[in-house]
Amino acid sequence: MMSSTNTAVLITGGAGFIGSNLCEYFLEKGYRVTCLDNFATGHRYNIEPFLANKNFKLIEGDIRDLNTCNAAVAGVDYVLHQAALGSVPRSINDPITSNDVNVGGFLNMLVASRDAGVKRFIYAASSSTYGDSESLPKVEEVIGKPLSPYAITKYVNELYADIFAKTYGLETIGLRYFNVFGRRQDPNGAYAAVIPKFVMQFMQHESPVINGDGNYSRDFTYIDNVIQMNELAMTTQNPSAINTVYNTAFGDRTTLNDMVNFLKLFLSEFDAEIANVAVVHGPNRIGDIPHSLASIEKAQRLLNYHPKFSFQQGLKAAVAWYWDNLKKE
Ligand code: NAD
Repeated sequence: MMSSTNTAVLITGGAGFIGSNLCEYFLEKGYRVTCLDNFATGHRYNIEPFLANKNFKLIEGDIRDLNTCNAAVAGVDYVLHQAALGSVPRSINDPITSNDVNVGGFLNMLVASRDAGVKRFIYAASSSTYGDSESLPKVEEVIGKPLSPYAITKYVNELYADIFAKTYGLETIGLRYFNVFGRRQDPNGAYAAVIPKFVMQFMQHESPVINGDGNYSRDFTYIDNVIQMNELAMTTQNPSAINTVYNTAFGDRTTLNDMVNFLKLFLSEFDAEIANVAVVHGPNRIGDIPHSLASIEKAQRLLNYHPKFSFQQGLKAAVAWYWDNLKKE
């Protein structure tokens, strides 16, 4: 078994939503954790509590720079690569920068990891890789055509990881995240994800805008399930479990309308007036797929994955966290 105290993990994008949760979790388990981040979309306050921990190291740098990547992987056992520019609309507005970071930066990290001899490279892939495939639930082997520049970058990651496994023997595992939510996900900015953005708007008694009629559905996945998948991917000793990709999800779907109703229900326990805040509907967004639901059978079978948080359990925990943390701002 791997001894956590001697194991060094590099978390790129460690100042972001998912990355900072991974930093926190692995520090608590006694791992040595390096965070590489350029704070493009992440925040210093996400990692502030870890700075005093002797097992934590922050490298402020950009994955688009190969020398920075080489320095970051030195002495590292496992890479959990989260750094990327998320958001479909961002990639539609600026495909060049999304590609530079998500593809160029990804390739730098693969090369650096190969050259440093890291034991395994685990990376954030995306459910957007299913593109225009209409089959439900999504199974890893059946994908469609990408619907956005962002989706292309995430699919290219999988192609590169596969080639690095076959050509150089680098162990890789891709985790196709499905609409992750939870503590520390950024509610601010033009490209904020729907759950934290709506939480903030409800807390301010502002009407959130649902794109479309609200019948689109998502496999909303609580952050703790994603942490579990990263840990399983890092620690698995099953040879058939590596050099492949996994849906990283709960395995159920919720419509946008139902998500909003649960949000109102949970938030109104803190502020009863939120129950009366109306919702507005706008046009559908380019690049959005109507429905998303993961099969998690492969992760269950090969990684022994058992998600602990349903959508509602996760949402309740997230709402409580936002209530405690956002109202101070
Ligand atoms: P996030 O924006 O909170 O985190 C991304 C982090 O990467 C940020 O801290 C950012 O500063 C950093 N970063 C960006 N460009 C960088 C660069 N050039 N060099 C170094 N660091 C850089 O987003 P997140 O939701 O935590 O997403 C993490 C990963 O998961 C991303 O790869 C994203 O594409 C993927 N993903 C997320 C979701 C989701 O629902 N949140 C779904 C699918 C895939």
